[in-house]
Amino acid sequence: MPDNLTDTPLTFSDLSLAEALLKAVEKMGFEQPTPVQQQAIPLALERKDLLVSAETGSGKTAAFLLPTLHHLLTLRSTLFGTRALILAPTRELAQQTFNQCRALAEFTELKIGLITGGEDFKQQQSALRRNAQIIIATPGRLMELINQDATDFSHLDVLILDEADRMLDMGFSEDVQAIAGHCNGQRQTLLFSATLTHYGVIKIADKVLKNHYKTVALNTLHDGHSNIRQQIMVADDNGHKQKLLAWILLNETYDKALIFTNTRLRANELQGPLRGQGLRVGVLHGEMDQKDRNRMMFLFRDGSVNIIVSTDLAARGLDVKGINLVINFDVPRNGIDYIHRIGRTGRADEQGLAIALVKSTEWNLMSGIQRFLKQTFECRTIKALEGSYKGPKKLKLSGKAVGSKDKREPKKAAAEKVKIRDRNKKNIGKRRVPSKKPDENLES
Ligand code: AMP
Repeated sequence: MPDNLTDTPLTFSDLSLAEALLKAVEKMGFEQPTPVQQQAIPLALERKDLLVSAETGSGKTAAFLLPTLHHLLTLRSTLFGTRALILAPTRELAQQTFNQCRALAEFTELKIGLITGGEDFKQQQSALRRNAQIIIATPGRLMELINQDATDFSHLDVLILDEADRMLDMGFSEDVQAIAGHCNGQRQTLLFSATLTHYGVIKIADKVLKNHYKTVALNTLHDGHSNIRQQIMVADDNGHKQKLLAWILLNETYDKALIFTNTRLRANELQGPLRGQGLRVGVLHGEMDQKDRNRMMFLFRDGSVNIIVSTDLAARGLDVKGINLVINFDVPRNGIDYIHRIGRTGRADEQGLAIALVKSTEWNLMSGIQRFLKQTFECRTIKALEGSYKGPKKLKLSGKAVGSKDKREPKKAAAEKVKIRDRNKKNIGKRRVPSKKPDENLES
């Protein structure tokens, strides 16, 4: 057999999946497995425990759903109770996974249940009683149900932890471990995380995966995102950012846009002025009740609202077709959050544009993100809206601003420097060690 045959990309039929699943995949328009699907599905079908690095946008959901559904279809069980449990960090992600699971299971008789906070508790209890073979849940609400003895995971075949890094960052570590403790010890476990270097993920992997688990590392985090154009626009302050934001939204060509802020307050604040410009804007953040969040997602999906201002929490894992513009109103706190934000666009190889609005105090954070990604973004200016801040005058090799240790406003910092210099001058005389030559210890 020629060597290069091993490099030939697999088709879905090569993966030996059940006919009902191949039919669904075809109906969904998936022509070929994505890289994470090519690597993870064969191993999962061998019933291996897996630790997989994959982000939203990579096709990771089908990478764990397809082998799981295949398994439930081929190894029929007469036992009652849940057979597959999928944990996701947020309600939106759980809902999306539920939708994808329903689509992939369309030609099967498998029952699927969704259990998330913010929805009716009694209905969810009865979903469990109706014996859904697959449960997709957020950890907090599931723990409540476990505490009420409403679950039975003693015959569980597969446990999936999706976006494990995020679940841990959100403080679900104990819940996740407690839930895993309630599951059948013989189960298969698939752990998906955007990063494998997260300390908590490694710790959890050691606890919940069997000893000889396989790792699938696609290193997608540092991929070039070549279908996403990434730009920086410098700004004087938040007021200047608001003007730039409105200009971009009124002048760029896009179907749907997502604007990220670091706080709920800022997300709320931006909405009104943008609406005032005649834009169809909505807000999405964790403080809103679930009904409002669902409604907003519905309006965004159907296009009645085509711009959403959101915090990281609400946007994590969000998969909406047609988002081709992402604007970071606030620079995210780290490179991983940046990747998650811009990953909302440029999905399934579509083209996307990501613009970060950067104040002087955010320059170093932004340059750290570029270093982390091993990329340098294009700097863009809008002639009519040029401000006084043009970026640092001098850059260090690292890309940080020279003399940028002091993050306070320049005037304050300068006044402080003068104060220190004056104090030092006064103290020079006092600190001087007596010497035979009177001026020997004076600084020149
Ligand atoms: P995910 O990474 O699971 O959030 O998937 C991102 C998007 O890619 C979703 O809209 C999926 O429906 C889609 N998708 C998943 N697998 C494939 C595939 N093999 N071919 C085309 N699209 C896919």
